[in-house]
Amino acid sequence: MTAQILEPGSVLGVLGGGQLGAMFASAARRMGYRVAVWDPDPDAPALQLADYSFAAPFLDVETRDQFSGTVGAVTVEWENVPADLCEWLARHHPVRPFGTVLRILQDRIHQKQFLQIHGLPVAPFAILESPDQLPNAISDIGLPALCKTARSGYDGKGQWLIQKPADAEQVFPSLSASTRAGHRWILEQFVPFERELSVLVVREPGGQCRTYPAVDNRHVHGILRLTVAPSSLPAGTTTHASHLAVQAVSALNSPGVFCVEFFHTSDGNLLINEIAPRPHNSGHYTLDACTVSQFEQQVRVLCGAPIGDIKLLCSAAMVNLIGDEVRTVTSGQGYREVMAIAGAVLHLYGKRTIRTGRKMGHVTFLAEEREIAEERARWLMNRLV
Ligand code: AMP
Repeated sequence: MTAQILEPGSVLGVLGGGQLGAMFASAARRMGYRVAVWDPDPDAPALQLADYSFAAPFLDVETRDQFSGTVGAVTVEWENVPADLCEWLARHHPVRPFGTVLRILQDRIHQKQFLQIHGLPVAPFAILESPDQLPNAISDIGLPALCKTARSGYDGKGQWLIQKPADAEQVFPSLSASTRAGHRWILEQFVPFERELSVLVVREPGGQCRTYPAVDNRHVHGILRLTVAPSSLPAGTTTHASHLAVQAVSALNSPGVFCVEFFHTSDGNLLINEIAPRPHNSGHYTLDACTVSQFEQQVRVLCGAPIGDIKLLCSAAMVNLIGDEVRTVTSGQGYREVMAIAGAVLHLYGKRTIRTGRKMGHVTFLAEEREIAEERARWLMNRLV
């Protein structure tokens, strides 16, 4: 029996309406699908691109029933949507990725334990059930270390670097202030990595996986700043990263698009930092530099269509526009300069309010040679500070 494919004309639902939801909606609409977006924020960018908009809290039962009555299949644009909601929707429609995956990945402790159980390499960590366990965790893990909230942290939020014992005293009040029932933290050894890299994995409902080439990432203050594709690490290292990424995604056992982020250490080890069960910021270059983008793959997987052939057509370097930086690039001399650069592609997310640390858009620089793409991206990064 051949698996059912949802054909163009069907309505695809996405939970979450940020830029990732908007890019999913654009890909889906280009392919002839209609899109239903559900986000609690009425200003969420993807709602502007939706055929059917649902601006209501995720726990609203009436909205849930209407959304379910509208869509033929459901995906997510971020991992923190309620897993219960995904599991309820899965009784009526294909939901990819599965709610079980969200449950594992929404909590850093569950995620790390899951990876460890499956023999995948992660930095040493300790679990804190309460702030007063911090001193013991420090003696187990050593310093420097990073203390992270188990849930709801992203882009470096909810993280504290502890370099020396005195730092722990300063972190303690922050942990105590955020204590509520069930709140936990993880203390991770600080990895003195040489490089951060990531691998996108697309997994079909039947279990077959394909990967995009590994890319190099640079974060500043916990937020992605620069991605360069393909990675400049030796082929042996990137192939190993791809194998580990497929192993991790296969263990999760769900169809979808996944991004596996790694640290590469000076002694040549790869450690998994985290997994996102959705397209990722470090994969935005695929929109302009690949035969099939990560968002089109999300559409294909959701509909049960075959995964698109993955080819990197040229090198690419992507720079995020964070907070006020977007003004530099979109007005006056800055706009003229960026538009004059060969291979520069500007993406703006249509967010109404600029906030510190908020991702407002990105610029991808395309070039035959990776070094040239990267040099242009570095020029922009210097122009932004
Ligand atoms: P995360 O939110 O955990 O992905 O962390 C965001 C960024 O913080 C990472 O991409 C790294 O640049 C940095 N970071 C997170 N965990 C560690 C760690 N254990 N050691 C060193 N840097 C880290």
